[in-house]
Amino acid sequence: MPAPRTPRKKKAAAASGAAADGAKEARLSAPQRALRRLGLVRDIDLALHLPLRYEDETRVTPLAEALRAHLGEEVQIEGTVTQQEVKTLGGWRRNLLVTLADGDRACLLRFFNFYPSQQKQMAPGARIRARGVLRAGLPPVMAHPVVHSADGALPETLTPVYPSTAQLPQAYLRRAVLGGLARADLSDTIPAELLLEIEGEPLWSLHDALHFLHQPPPGAPLQALQERAHPAWRRLKAEELLAQQLSQAKARRERALLRAPQLVAREDGLVQQFLAALPFALTAAQQRVAREIAADLARPRPMNRLLQGDVGSGKTAVATLAACCAIDAGWQCALMAPTEILASQHFARLGEWLAPLLAARGQSVAWLTGSQKRSQRRVALEAIASGQAALVIGTHAVIEQQVQFARLALAIIDEQHRFGVAQRLALRQKSSEGGENFEPHLLMMSATPIPRTLAMSHFADLDVSTIDALPPGRTPVVTRLVSQQRRSEVIARLARPIAAGRQVYWVCPLIEESEALDLRDATQAHATISAALPHCTVGLLHSRMSAAEKQDVMAQFVAGTMPVLVSTTVIEVGVDVPAASIMVIEHAERFGLSQLHQLRGRVGRGAGEAYCLLLYGAPDGTPLGDTARARLQTMQDTNDGFEIARRDLALRGPGEFLGARQSGAALLRFADPSADAPLLHWAHRAAPRMLEHWPDMAARHIERWIGAKADYLKA
Ligand code: ADP
Ligand code: MG
Repeated sequence: MPAPRTPRKKKAAAASGAAADGAKEARLSAPQRALRRLGLVRDIDLALHLPLRYEDETRVTPLAEALRAHLGEEVQIEGTVTQQEVKTLGGWRRNLLVTLADGDRACLLRFFNFYPSQQKQMAPGARIRARGVLRAGLPPVMAHPVVHSADGALPETLTPVYPSTAQLPQAYLRRAVLGGLARADLSDTIPAELLLEIEGEPLWSLHDALHFLHQPPPGAPLQALQERAHPAWRRLKAEELLAQQLSQAKARRERALLRAPQLVAREDGLVQQFLAALPFALTAAQQRVAREIAADLARPRPMNRLLQGDVGSGKTAVATLAACCAIDAGWQCALMAPTEILASQHFARLGEWLAPLLAARGQSVAWLTGSQKRSQRRVALEAIASGQAALVIGTHAVIEQQVQFARLALAIIDEQHRFGVAQRLALRQKSSEGGENFEPHLLMMSATPIPRTLAMSHFADLDVSTIDALPPGRTPVVTRLVSQQRRSEVIARLARPIAAGRQVYWVCPLIEESEALDLRDATQAHATISAALPHCTVGLLHSRMSAAEKQDVMAQFVAGTMPVLVSTTVIEVGVDVPAASIMVIEHAERFGLSQLHQLRGRVGRGAGEAYCLLLYGAPDGTPLGDTARARLQTMQDTNDGFEIARRDLALRGPGEFLGARQSGAALLRFADPSADAPLLHWAHRAAPRMLEHWPDMAARHIERWIGAKADYLKA
């Protein structure tokens, strides 16, 4: 539909930023509601809604020239309508055909869908402009051009095209945005002194940058604009990164005002007893991160730390040390894991390590999960509320309403990326003791390392400790790519290592659309393998089983009486069975790299050689695509989780890392933390100083860029 040129006054006024109140909401028109859904509420929101691309309607090409030199390109022509007819094609499709003459040349404008208003606009005799791609023919044809009356002057700027939604026509959005741009306060909120510290060309002012981006003059470098490489874009990226860094620096300062118990380990206390009981010595890397954590715990404000370390790097022992610290100081610790299997592993392992030590002090370890018996749960809840349970381990059940801790001082979240912002918040608010401004220390763990620029851009409010070396005696897992066609051969070859006492994980393909299909594939694989290896017990594990069934299967696998475990991806996270040294993953190409790495990390935990076979491709031998092949090749090339994370990031972009549920992810619309690293570094340095020396400007800057979203981002 052609875009009306002259803004209709009433609509333009209605589209301007308005107060959000419920009663009004109902009376909003569809495009007004669409604006709101896009978060375009205030004038400044509109002004910061930037074009995706531009159309050039500033020039008219004479038809003769267009026919001679620009066939197949988009051009704008102008002329007089000499004829108009509606033709019915194929019995029902009505086409509007308009003949446009310019000098002695003519062409046909063809519309497959049209409105009566268009017929009127293009009545014979009318002078119009049409923009579209002109194709050779007799006569030459322009299909579905954008048409304006030729009465008005040509626009003096390129026409912006904005990100929009179905209910929001471009013309309406354009008027709203330009209105917002005219009304918004665009005065500078970055102190000149900080601007000077940006390397390279001085930045444009926000005012100039925005006006340029919304209405570039004819001849503006379209490519640079489109690729966001233009200096005007640089200003916006710097603004955006600064806003993000400011809000995180602010959250960090606010957290510094909170109180937390100072947890200092006593000499010859629980920490020492635990270390003495541990069957191995901590690696240097584990000791270093343990010291970092201990230093945080000793401070009177809540820790907010991420402990990252490759799969199998020994994060659990480090977390246990932190727990000992809290318990020794007379407080409670909670450990939450995303799956029941993982939580129960922690319960078993930490139980083994700590239960005897705690029992000697009249304390216990409590277990909480959604599937446990009521009576058991009641006992656990009482022990937690009284403080007798010094350590609480469980799934999401730990953050449920009825769970009330007497004195929670430390919350540990394993595989933190599996949890959302709200769940982390809930865990922090679990202590009865402490009163106002009190928060427990928070330790999050993850095997998916966050690349440095992402850590800085999105997790600036977080301290990070990294375990950068694996415990000694591990041989790297040998990874091989094997065609799915050789599946039976692979199964047959398992017999020998199994006879030698090795254990095997067999992971079935991930079928995202359907849990039922996942199940079917796992069940079939289980049947095939059982038939092929008649002398060995083959277990099956999938998400539809009850917790007790899963527990039972895992127990047999852990005990070594079940040599093969066929499983859907429920074993993905954290499970630890040292004797399992072979892993086969079917249809490996369906998994993400990080996920494959996590899976592979289940083997190679003992001392012997470990293998990971990635079966790929269709059973009929259809070859893999190049990218799929390259991704699997990465797995064969390296065991280094950080390197894999880096390549995964390059392949998939940051969304995957942050997850939809991570805060801050939505915050960066324009800047790209890795491509714009120099600006990010500047913003990272500038933010704390700006809060310190220019607090008013900082507040205005945050308000301008983040506005109502600010609270949410704190979580
Ligand atoms: P992850 O970091 O993936 O959570 P875990 O904490 O599960 O790793 O540790 C993997 C395995 O390594 C466990 O069996 C654990 O007992 C063992 N482990 C941890 N630290 C050491 C160490 N310093 N020396 C030897 N083995 C260790
Ligand atoms: Mg773990």
